Amino acid sequence: MAVMKSYKPTGVLMGRLAHGSDLLEEITGICRDNSIRMGRVEAIGAVSGARIGYYNQGVSEYEYVTAEQPLEIVAMKGNISVKDGEPMVHAHVVLSDENGDAFGGHLAAGTIVFACECLIEVLDGPVLERKPDDETGLPLWDMA
Ligand code: ZN
Repeated sequence: MAVMKSYKPTGVLMGRLAHGSDLLEEITGICRDNSIRMGRVEAIGAVSGARIGYYNQGVSEYEYVTAEQPLEIVAMKGNISVKDGEPMVHAHVVLSDENGDAFGGHLAAGTIVFACECLIEVLDGPVLERKPDDETGLPLWDMA
């Protein structure tokens, strides 16, 4: 059975990410600078190139798709928790091209901001730490 913990929103940060910055690293840096350990994040905008992960469950490894073209960020959603004592942003993204065709996956470093409006909701409650999970090979939340 799922173990769920309880959180209270304590504030929202909203702003524009720097042109040319790395989308994942920029949001992670905001979390570090603002001592955010638990939260959720969403964003819309555009990127000038993207690197998106797909977790190959058969071999327990991420495979990456890269796109070196302008794309819209149709939607980005994610959460903020802690891994190795540092804030870790886990986000998934849907991107679309000039034809409106969309694809998406696990947001990886290497996705470059053209313009991005980002919202981070800060949550107060038990800190979830990511630990290696034997069943999946993924760094999952330790719910103990
Ligand atoms: Zn993911």
